[in-house]
Amino acid sequence: MPSKIKGHGRTGRPWRRKAAEVRASFSPCWLCGDPIDYTLPPNHVWSFTVHHKVPLAVAPWLAHDRSNLVAAHRRCNSLQGDRLGRPPTPTSRTW
Ligand SMILES: [Zn+2]
Repeated sequence: MPSKIKGHGRTGRPWRRKAAEVRASFSPCWLCGDPIDYTLPPNHVWSFTVHHKVPLAVAPWLAHDRSNLVAAHRRCNSLQGDRLGRPPTPTSRTW
């Protein structure tokens, strides 16, 4: 039996550490390629967020995998949601 995944992978000390690493890279937005203003307040639409290249909904075990974490604008991140990184399904409507 698979072990229970606690929370959504965005809590706790390991997560905060990884998020800080991504932030410290001062990378441009992985989704749109534009630079991120790292001085913006966290709730700003263009502020920095950590984005999962492979969405947690697809691969929750990659929640803390540094190679799966990239910088993204809050807005871009929320626009993509869980869709990005998921391979396009050939049959989008099977039902
Ligand atoms: Zn962006």
